[in-house]
Amino acid sequence: MKILVLPGDGIGPDITAATLTVLDRASTLYGLGLQWQREEIGLEALRRQGTTLPPRVIGAARAADGVILGPLSTNEYPTRERGGINASAEFRTRFDLYANIRPAKSRLGPGLTGKPVDLVIYRENTEGFYADRNMHSGGGEFMVTEDTAIALRRVTVKCSERIARRAFEAAASRRRKITAVHKANVFRISDGLFLREVRKVALDFPEVELEEVIVDAMAALLLRDPMRFDVIVAENMYGDILSDEASELSGGLGLGGSINAGESSCLAQAQHGSAPDIAGRDRANPVSLILSAAMLLDWLAIRRADSALGAAAQRIEAAVDRTLADPMKRTADLGGPMGTREFALAVASLLR
Ligand code: NAD
Repeated sequence: MKILVLPGDGIGPDITAATLTVLDRASTLYGLGLQWQREEIGLEALRRQGTTLPPRVIGAARAADGVILGPLSTNEYPTRERGGINASAEFRTRFDLYANIRPAKSRLGPGLTGKPVDLVIYRENTEGFYADRNMHSGGGEFMVTEDTAIALRRVTVKCSERIARRAFEAAASRRRKITAVHKANVFRISDGLFLREVRKVALDFPEVELEEVIVDAMAALLLRDPMRFDVIVAENMYGDILSDEASELSGGLGLGGSINAGESSCLAQAQHGSAPDIAGRDRANPVSLILSAAMLLDWLAIRRADSALGAAAQRIEAAVDRTLADPMKRTADLGGPMGTREFALAVASLLR
């Protein structure tokens, strides 16, 4: 099985190498037959090839069985005309990876608030407040005059319905509770449409309780009572922001796995950014990308009815948890002494 590996910027190469250490061991032990195809993207590709996303990478992604994408220093990219293409946004729209699935689970005991968290966010990934993916042609941000800027938000029936359906399917096999996050008190038309579609999908899942919460209250309630939430469904930007909050609640930004999934493609991607402040120093926590890769294996297991892939995903997650259980086997962001490489070797050594 061919997996395209795109290390990206900042800590991307560090955490990608760590992830492959774990996956290589899993592939050998469980006979998964994983093969890597590495391609350069990001600032290094810009320097050498004039673009952060060389066109051949799109073809390679199309031909691969799955993609592992490191974080990107998008804030440092030049404009698109000067070669700065956000590969993350590009893959999400081109391959219609409409579901960004982001679990947050306490892995170090109760986190910031002293309360455990165990939830999963289903974030719509292809429209919403992200103006860069809203238009058929051209960008969704405009400079009307020198001192007036406008950004468009798109919300459609199709995208709202499908993310709601994936979220309800997940809720049906978890604690049967779903929370739809919105701001329909202000965005009566656009968030109103999103909520209308969620309610329609809810009719097909009578066993799942639907709760609707306004996004600003949601930010507070997540801190106050995290276990009240099981599956959360939200438009793009609300989901992006709340998932960082949930990740931090679970113990830290470096802990949350994430996949971007469509009907026929899946891309594993850490929840956090490229952390340029600690890049290349063997200080990054690779858990987020390792767990993302495990989620990719699980996604492939379901699509291919391949139980070995599913079992490998479970064992990787268990090995991460067992490693993190020992405070002396944690990386610096979690107050531990381990470097990125050493942590990955510790996780790999626990696979049996
Ligand atoms: P960030 O997530 O990169 O970092 C925030 C803080 O968390 C920093 O102190 C960083 O050191 C720490 N951190 C993040 N991941 C960590 C890890 N795995 N281990 C240890 N510490 C970790 O957010 P930022 O600083 O706001 O953004 C940096 C760059 O990343 C920007 O260019 C931004 O555009 C980009 N970004 C990319 C993605 C992506 O590629 N998916 C997502 C968010 C931000």
